[in-house]
Amino acid sequence: MDAILSIPMLSVFMIPVLSSYSTSLNLLFFYMTWSTLVLSHTPLRVEIFGTIAVRLIFYALPSVLFFLFDILTPSAAVVVKKHGAAGLPGGKRRSRIRTRELKVAGWSLLNLCMSIAVQWGIETLCVRALGMRSALKVSIRLPMPYEMLKDLLLGLLGREALTYVIHRFALHSEQSVLTKYHLYWYHSLRAPYPLTAHYDHPLAYLVSNFIPTYLPAVFFRFHMLTYLCYLVFVSIQETFVYSGYTVMPTSFFLSGIARRTEMHLFTDGEGNFGAWGIMDWILKTNVGDSDDAADDERDEADERERKARQVYEASLRKLAPGSGKSKGHGNGSRRR
Ligand SMILES: [Zn+2]
Repeated sequence: MDAILSIPMLSVFMIPVLSSYSTSLNLLFFYMTWSTLVLSHTPLRVEIFGTIAVRLIFYALPSVLFFLFDILTPSAAVVVKKHGAAGLPGGKRRSRIRTRELKVAGWSLLNLCMSIAVQWGIETLCVRALGMRSALKVSIRLPMPYEMLKDLLLGLLGREALTYVIHRFALHSEQSVLTKYHLYWYHSLRAPYPLTAHYDHPLAYLVSNFIPTYLPAVFFRFHMLTYLCYLVFVSIQETFVYSGYTVMPTSFFLSGIARRTEMHLFTDGEGNFGAWGIMDWILKTNVGDSDDAADDERDEADERERKARQVYEASLRKLAPGSGKSKGHGNGSRRR
């Protein structure tokens, strides 16, 4: 009896032992797979194929699916769009699929391919032509969790600072040649929609998107695994922030960035040059954040008032003596 009772008791004590055993086993398998990958391929190939895989899984495929959902089933998509029909690629619920939206999607995907090609070019130049070490660290040794977290934080903060400086002073400055490209391409969009995270003139895109993403990783010489985690984070952010949907994972964080991104577009680039808003907050270039709730409230109140007025006017028209149906009833009642 004691032996039977002791089995569930033993299993309770065994859970942490078993789970730590399976975690160690998973880590061992991961290490073996990683070292096989590093030993059987060149660092350049590991970097480029890793980048392609992450970009494909966490940005290109979900964004293409969201884009197709928006253009093929606009009536269903409009339900989850924050700005309703205005947030759809065509701007209308029942619009036909236009070449303009397909062009935007095509350029976005081309820009993404171009950024990977440039990354490949930089690594090839460094390693093969100049005989330097690779820009990212591709080694069998796994990075320590603390080292990984520190690099991720530094990389993301560096990306935010670079995005702000480049966006504000290279894409929204009268002295810069890139300004007219950025305004003519990216700022021609009415609202962000899936795939527009990578839509801009190719030159403006390379300077404002590729450089802020790749430079911090090269500057801190990320371990390849840290770089892939960093790229997963960036890709998920781009996918959801530009989707225009109200439903998002970690809605507090991503919704805030989405709101800031669309306000940059709505105000024709008056502010919100960074994604997270840290630099905008420090340098006081925030737009549309202070009275957001009040503005939304006001818009909703206006909308309610407009609808109430329409209903009221419609009922007045029905009751008016000159209107068709009510006139007939009125005459009839008088005759009786
Ligand atoms: Zn801009």
